[in-house]
Amino acid sequence: MTTFARSNMWERLGSEEFDLIVIGGGIVGVCVARDAVLRGLKVALFERRDFASATSGASSKLIHGGLRYLMNLEIGLVRESLRERRIWSQIAPHTVHSLPFLLPLGGGKKFRERLLYSLGLRAYDWLSYDRNKLTDPEKFIPAHKKISLNQISEEEPTLNTENFKEALLFHDYQMFSPERLSWACLKQAMMRGAVVLNYAEVVEFLRDGNKINGVIVKNLEDGVEIQVKGKVVVNATGPWADQLIALATGKEPERKIIRSKGIHVLTKPLTHKYAIAVPGKGTHFFVLPWLGYSLLGTTDTVYQGSPDDVHVSEKELVEFLSVVNNGFPGNAKVKRGDVVFFYGGLRPIVEKDPTETDEEFNSYNASRSAEIFDHEQDGCLGLITAVGGKWTTSRHLAERVVDKVFEKLGHTAPQCTTDTTPVVGGEIERLSEFIESKIEQYPDFPPEVVKNLVYYYGTEIDEVIALAKQDPILAEPICDSRKEIGAQIVYAVRNEMAVHLSDVLFRRTNIGNLGEPGESAIRKITDLMSHELARDDNWKERERKAVKIKFVSWARTYVVVNPRAWGNMTGKLWPDIEKKLHQAIGPVKVSFTEKPGDGIELARRALLDGYEQIIAVGGDGTINEVVNGFFMDERLINPESVFAIISTGTGRDFAKTLKWPQEIDEQIEHLANTSVFPLDLGKLRFLNFNGEETTRYFVNIASFGLSGATDRAVNSYLRLKQYNGKVAFFLGMLQALLTYKNKPVRLKIDNQFDDVLEIKTVAVCNGQYFGSGMHISPNSQINDGWFDVIVIPGITTLELLMNVSKVYSGTHLNHPKIRVFRAQKVMAYPAHKAGEVLLDVDGEVPGYLPATFEIVPQAINVRIQPPSDELD
Ligand SMILES: Cc1cc2nc3c(=O)[nH]c(=O)nc-3n(C[C@H](O)[C@H](O)[C@H](O)COP(=O)(O)OP(=O)(O)OC[C@H]3O[C@@H](n4cnc5c(N)ncnc54)[C@H](O)[C@@H]3O)c2cc1C
Repeated sequence: MTTFARSNMWERLGSEEFDLIVIGGGIVGVCVARDAVLRGLKVALFERRDFASATSGASSKLIHGGLRYLMNLEIGLVRESLRERRIWSQIAPHTVHSLPFLLPLGGGKKFRERLLYSLGLRAYDWLSYDRNKLTDPEKFIPAHKKISLNQISEEEPTLNTENFKEALLFHDYQMFSPERLSWACLKQAMMRGAVVLNYAEVVEFLRDGNKINGVIVKNLEDGVEIQVKGKVVVNATGPWADQLIALATGKEPERKIIRSKGIHVLTKPLTHKYAIAVPGKGTHFFVLPWLGYSLLGTTDTVYQGSPDDVHVSEKELVEFLSVVNNGFPGNAKVKRGDVVFFYGGLRPIVEKDPTETDEEFNSYNASRSAEIFDHEQDGCLGLITAVGGKWTTSRHLAERVVDKVFEKLGHTAPQCTTDTTPVVGGEIERLSEFIESKIEQYPDFPPEVVKNLVYYYGTEIDEVIALAKQDPILAEPICDSRKEIGAQIVYAVRNEMAVHLSDVLFRRTNIGNLGEPGESAIRKITDLMSHELARDDNWKERERKAVKIKFVSWARTYVVVNPRAWGNMTGKLWPDIEKKLHQAIGPVKVSFTEKPGDGIELARRALLDGYEQIIAVGGDGTINEVVNGFFMDERLINPESVFAIISTGTGRDFAKTLKWPQEIDEQIEHLANTSVFPLDLGKLRFLNFNGEETTRYFVNIASFGLSGATDRAVNSYLRLKQYNGKVAFFLGMLQALLTYKNKPVRLKIDNQFDDVLEIKTVAVCNGQYFGSGMHISPNSQINDGWFDVIVIPGITTLELLMNVSKVYSGTHLNHPKIRVFRAQKVMAYPAHKAGEVLLDVDGEVPGYLPATFEIVPQAINVRIQPPSDELD
């Protein structure tokens, strides 16, 4: 049994000079190291985190030709990929498996699309003419064909074939585990003498004049740095490639590296046998069956942040689920609560046209061909960068890189053999026969466990089973929901350089890639690991904490509940609501408001603590407070954060504009199924009751005059308001009417209006309703970037009372005295002797005029139905 101890590797570093140093332990770096070692070079490879933990572990797990690149007429890339597809299947048969794809094509006018795909698949077959040059006939890939809709209905009853005109069937390959396949290549390099280290960051280049002759490596486990000499250095750092180039050359690369983000979501199975490619406008997504689940992927958006920070935000997740639910040709809908795991990664894409701006750049259509840069002309002789490409083509990219390395070393390159040399564990002629023979050889182990072990280790299964036989505990599955056994954990630590819990959960095994395996499984794994690594309880605790954040059970949603809303009913119903919410959208963290202002503080603290979605549960006041908590110093705390509501108030004015249902169950159902879209907010500067200038955001309506006086009166009927908002509002209004005197106010509305008016009420509206159901601004849209300003001048009290019913029905706007403006900025000052002109902001009275109202278009992400579908 070969063991690879990190300590031995470190010792070898100081004493040896290498022909080649590879920076980056993704599949590109790994393939370069494997190829170079197989051609006789002395190689060291350094990986800053764990092997295949970045882009290479975040792929769709496909070994494929890339049908869509054919649509972009990248014939060379597709041919290269199809050739490499065959090679991977041949050299790693235990872990690369054939996957049937359905391509459903619509009816009607989509004839052109059908013709295009049919021709495309024909070309795909031609370009893979050698696809079945394999030793295992079970791995053969048939030519594409039409598949009958009846057959699809029988095999995939969840698919709705009514909308299909026809469907095409073709095949590609899928990796059981990209991380393991990468490891199998790396292990081969190590077995042939390569020095390989994870958690080893290259922090500096060594140079002799303009020649790069080594690197400084930092051991991230203990902070020790060491100089390592090498004749040639290959930068294979994927999304970090430009940073390493800048470190070496002191300048940004001439052709920018653009990072395109893609996310994947693992959910309950939508299909069982077939993968489905769903084409869309300028995009597509896959539904891929993988280990009993559906892997949904992927997105393609230019990413501007640091590659160190990439993660899947709640907003992206919800938006992607909505794309899938709209496009998936079946009845099944994926709710947030169906998600068991998700991950994101960055495609490094080399810019082709430096004059193109980031906005113009279309990452989806950008070529996936790889690039090799020789940095001699940048004053860095001996430094080569290999970047871009696909998992599938990484072996071939490495071949070209190693040819170049030999050129730099001044030697003739020996023949590359990586296309015919099986990876470690891959010396298997016929996979099914091999699995059968192992099942027979190990009758004490359940057949599905043995089969799974073959997928992991191929011919090295015997080493793992030997461990399991030494200790019965190691022969047991880690938990009921997984086939992995304890021996795999020990093997990962002893033989596969796993040093952290995350290495074992996500890369040496698939245990974590299928979602959280449960507390006791995690404890079992950390116990086994800590025993092997001689670590204490603190270590175990730290490791558990570090992985928790990766799982969907890690709540990213924070709920601010006002238990007093709806006459204390919200608090009483909360346990039931929470249970249903959990089922629909996954785990949530909850806090209750106790006094006015708590909503702001709770939401703000949650966002600062990293929660990404905040749900306000309560009435319009709670909604307003929570929205205000999204801001600090007038900036969003997290621009990616998402706001959502469960409206349990009595007035529900904001919910009415949204046409948000009243029934709690329906609201939760909506919440689970809707996407995210940007909501405008109003930003209000005014004087609070201490006379201080204050800023407050509003989602719905801010008004002043009679409405402010009414609100103050209504809020004095607190108990009644909780039970019957409409009656409380009516009483409050009557009370206000008796005392309110029309006020002279100077109104400035954009550049359209500037005058002093006697006013009854002026409403600056983002939403449509106020005052517990008055349809004051029936034309307002919450995402059009405009306010509707409704000016009700100083009409008599009698006139007002005669028209109240029209305000409820929204038919008051044609009253000759009412004026309506569309505006983005409104300023209001009390004119002479106006006295206190009270404001009403989303149903609360926070202060008085003077005030400035400004629209903030698309200010916040809100999780509701898109307005075109549902809103007035
Ligand atoms: C969403 C998505 C889906 C994809 N799906 C597929 C697919 O189905 N099939 C396919 O063929 N291709 C797919 N690809 C493409 C494929 O994943 C990539 O081409 C491939 O993984 C790139 O590997 P890499 O080694 O260049 O980068 P990475 O895997 O990112 O490796 C670079 C490594 O360098 C390390 N590093 C950085 N700086 C340093 C330093 N200073 N010192 C030491 N190490 C350092 C990083 O930690 C990292 O591990 C997909 C890509 C994405 C993003």
